[in-house]
Amino acid sequence: MEPYLSIVVPVYNEESNLAPLMERLYPAARSTGRSFEIIFTNDGSRDRSLEILKAMAQDYPEVRVIEFNGNFGQHMAILAAFEMCSGQIVITLDADLQNPPEEISRLVAEIESGHDVVGTIRQKRQDSIFRKLASRIVNITTNKMTGMEMNDYGCMLRAYHRNVIENINRCGESTTFIPALAQTFAANPSEIEVGHSERAAGESKYSLYRLIRLNFDLMTGFSVVPLQLFALFGILTSLFSLAFGLFLLVRRFIVGSEVEGVFTLFAILFFFIGIIIMGIGIVGEYVGRIYQEVRKRPRYVVRRTYGFE
Ligand code: UDP
Ligand code: MG
Repeated sequence: MEPYLSIVVPVYNEESNLAPLMERLYPAARSTGRSFEIIFTNDGSRDRSLEILKAMAQDYPEVRVIEFNGNFGQHMAILAAFEMCSGQIVITLDADLQNPPEEISRLVAEIESGHDVVGTIRQKRQDSIFRKLASRIVNITTNKMTGMEMNDYGCMLRAYHRNVIENINRCGESTTFIPALAQTFAANPSEIEVGHSERAAGESKYSLYRLIRLNFDLMTGFSVVPLQLFALFGILTSLFSLAFGLFLLVRRFIVGSEVEGVFTLFAILFFFIGIIIMGIGIVGEYVGRIYQEVRKRPRYVVRRTYGFE
């Protein structure tokens, strides 16, 4: 029998969080009164996570485990579970207990009242200042660039209707950001406020470098606005330097040629060089992405699965 609810959890080196998570997640899922499955994707953990998950798959008939062949990232882990889940309502949450599993029933109710994507806004967010700032930048740029309206893209405690999942599964992109992708397919999205706690154990898997990568995924994966902005900026700067050249010409006739201004010119030159390098970088980002897509490599490799019949 197909479960009605699919709960999807990406796991990367979370050995000390899995047991406490299950202790709260399982009763929370049961209390919805619906049939459910819990799909864990082991994203190449190097600790004991996989053994713990395998044991859970044996103990609980509702638990399924997808074992990745390496570390393919949180979003790939969720996408793999999306392709293998069968529920009418699909819920994603983190394994580190930052998202309270007790909120699941509210998410389910929200979907059942007719929404197809339910996002969450973290109340009293328990993260470092640095992490919060990064999220703010993500939220603002994403909304500006995609023309979508969402308050908190970063919170992974979310619910999706089957229709949205089907559409996500049809996208074969190898770099993506699931909340933004889902938003482009949502006909009737909504957001609710949920609690947020500190990471129960272990440390965040997102370093500064990974956060920057994620931001690039968001910016270039969903719009070509960065390219257009850059072109616009190029036009403006060339207009400006044309005016500046005219000014120097006129000045030459009136005051005579300037020599002391050489360093000012250097400064201006460096400014433009900086812009050019940045532009090449942005273009390169797109080219790189095209390269990744045309290669058509598999996005992730599943080594084994447990608990799926
Ligand atoms: N995660 C993953 N693969 C990765 C990085 C993270 O599956 O390469 C999982 C991780 O186990 C956790 C979730 O994604 O369940 C969110 O990660 P984390 O809590 O480190 O991110 P943060 O809360 O700092 O945004
Ligand atoms: Mg976390």
